[in-house]
Amino acid sequence: MGLMERLHNAMEDVVLQTVDKRMEKGDICDCENCRLDIMSIMLNRLPTHYAVSDAGALYGRVKAIDFQPHVDITIAMTEAIELVQQRPRHNL
Ligand SMILES: [Zn+2]
Repeated sequence: MGLMERLHNAMEDVVLQTVDKRMEKGDICDCENCRLDIMSIMLNRLPTHYAVSDAGALYGRVKAIDFQPHVDITIAMTEAIELVQQRPRHNL
C-alpha cells in the first residue's frame, strides 16, 4: 500500500453518509452527476479532516466514526443542493 493511499479525508465519509441519508427522502434528484456535484461543492467548502488508515484495515476504514465535525454539514448540504438544483447536470 502506497504512503498516500493510507491517508484518507474522513470528511469524505461524513459527506457521503449525510448526502445518502438526505437522498432517501426522494424529493431531489439522486442521479450520479447531481450526487457528485453536491458532494464536491460540500467538500470544497468544508474543512478536510485527514486520518491515517490502520495497516491491515480495509481501505477507508479510518477513525471516521470518532470524528465529530465542528462545522454544520447540514447547512453546507442545503446550500449545495440549492446550487445543483438551479443548474442540474443529470445523467443522460
Ligand atoms: Zn440529476
